[in-house]
Parts: sequence; C-alpha cells; structure tokens
Amino acid sequence: MTDRYAVIGQPISHSKSPTIHNAFAQATHQDLRYEAVEVPAGTLADALQRLHGDGFLGVNITLPHKADAPMLCEMISERAQLAGAVNTLIRSDAGWRGDNTDGEGLIRDLQRLAYAIKDQHVLVLGSGGAVRGMIAPLLAEQPASLTVSNRSPWTPEKLAEQFRTVGTVTPRTHATLKGDRFDLIINATSAGHAGVMPRIPAGVLAKGGACYDLTYGTAHAPFRKWAEAQGATRIADGLGMLVEQAAAAFALWRGVRPETETVLASLRPSQGA
Ligand code: NDP
Repeated sequence: MTDRYAVIGQPISHSKSPTIHNAFAQATHQDLRYEAVEVPAGTLADALQRLHGDGFLGVNITLPHKADAPMLCEMISERAQLAGAVNTLIRSDAGWRGDNTDGEGLIRDLQRLAYAIKDQHVLVLGSGGAVRGMIAPLLAEQPASLTVSNRSPWTPEKLAEQFRTVGTVTPRTHATLKGDRFDLIINATSAGHAGVMPRIPAGVLAKGGACYDLTYGTAHAPFRKWAEAQGATRIADGLGMLVEQAAAAFALWRGVRPETETVLASLRPSQGA
C-alpha cells in the first residue's frame, strides 16, 4: 500500500510542499503520496486524530498551526521544544512525535549558497516562530555576534532570555540599530507579504555584507530590493530554505536524504507570487 503524508494549514492550496515531496519520492524511488489538506484554525486536534486514524505516516505543519502543534504531540524533539513550534510530525503508535526542521533548512541553504556565518556579525529581523527555530542553529555556527531586532520591543528581549543557556543573543528594536554594522542580515519578518520593508536604518549592512530573505516570490521582495540598494554582495530568497527544510523532514520519515538542487531548480521558473 502506498504510504501517505500531508501538509496541513490554511490557506494551503498554494503550498509547494506536495510538489517538493512528490519529487523527492520519485527521485529516491519511494512509494508514497503527499497531499495538501486544508485545516482551519481551531481544528488542529481533530485533524491530527483523523490523519492518524487514516494511517498517515507523517505530516508537515504550516500557518496557523506551528505553535499549537507541540501540545498535541506525545513527544517533541529538543529543537522543536526550543523553537516552541513544530513543523514536522512523525507517526508513532500512540500519536505523533513533533520536530522542527526550519532552522536546519536555513543553515543548509546558507551552506549551499556558501554564505559565511562563523565569525560574522549576524542580524536577524523579526522574532516570530521562524526566528525561534533559527536561533540555536545559528548560534551553533559560531557567529561573532547574533542580534535579533523586531518592531515590537519586548519580543527580542524575551528571546534573548529564553536562549540565554544556548548562547548570547543581543535584543534590539529596528530603530536602535542605527550606527551598527552587520555582515549578514536575515529577514525573517512577514513584512514582505504586505509588500513592505521593515523600518531599519540605512547603513546597517557592512561593506561586502550579504542578505538572506526567508520570503520568496517576486511579489514579496521589498527586503531583497533594499539589500540591492544597500550594495549587498549576495542576496538570496527563502525558496532554498523551503526545499531544505522539506528534505530534512523527508529524511526523518524515510531514512534517506534527497538531493535538493534539482527540485529547487524546477521550482524557480514558476515561483511567482
Ligand atoms: P510570525 O507571524 O510568527 O512572525 C512575523 C514577524 O514579522 C514578527 O516578528 C512581526 O513583528 C514581523 N512583522 C510583520 N509585519 C511586519 C512589518 N510590516 N514590519 C516589520 N516587521 C513585521 O511568522 P513566522 O516567524 O512564522 O514567519 C516569518 C516569515 O518567514 C514569513 O514570511 C514566512 O513565510 C517565512 N518563512 C519562510 C520559511 C522558508 O522555508 N523559506 C520557513 C518559515 C517561515 P511583530 O512581532 O512586531 O508583529
């Protein structure tokens, strides 16, 4: 019987995950079917019970459920616990084990693109769920410093405190970045979805600095345009991270890590909005 997997969230019809995972399955000769299932806010528990009953072996979780999923898992990984969010579920007899592959996806994409992290001054914009998943993996790469900046002042403070045992995170607001210089700036805000750029001061990107945008698609590109205007030597969007976090989930489920370049290249021409 064909093994079944799904991505759940709302909205879900535009998710690229089915395309990515079905391509991984074909490339690695795995007999599986991966589908997108619409799950509205407030119905996650019922949906997970239903998927378990229907025999699904694994589930990816996206907006708006990532932060609600941990409490519905019988066990969660240390990285998911630190992130306070689950994006991958692995079936167990009793229910679901939760994991979070977003941070691993980011680091693998930065490595694929040969971005330097070690000894670099790194600035992360935003402090939502994605940032919580990125902090520990970024600190493990030994940056010279890691600063997290957000438009709302209290969330970076909270993150710095939460990750104190893992490493040093300098909390800032966008306005107080004036005068600082960073070698790598990672945009992990959702501002691009509204077509806007987080209001950070000009001049914070060091000469020769690089920029990475978690969002992708031409309609969500204000940060990449800003990076270009600031003279960034490297600019990348988050499509590679999307594919890499999917590959990490696929490896957890199937015990085989798929090659990512081919799938990434196939997504590029149609990436659109
Ligand atoms: P959250 O909703 O948890 O956090 C959103 C963050 O964006 C908050 O820090 C929020 O600030 C900030 N923000 C929103 N609008 C603005 C604005 N106009 N100006 C400045 N800051 C703003 O989202 P996630 O952390 O889950 O996701 C963040 C982004 O990363 C999304 O675009 C998502 O699509 C993308 N992502 C990409 C992945 C990939 O694989 N490429 C994986 C995961 C996420 P405040 O606290 O002040 O509201």
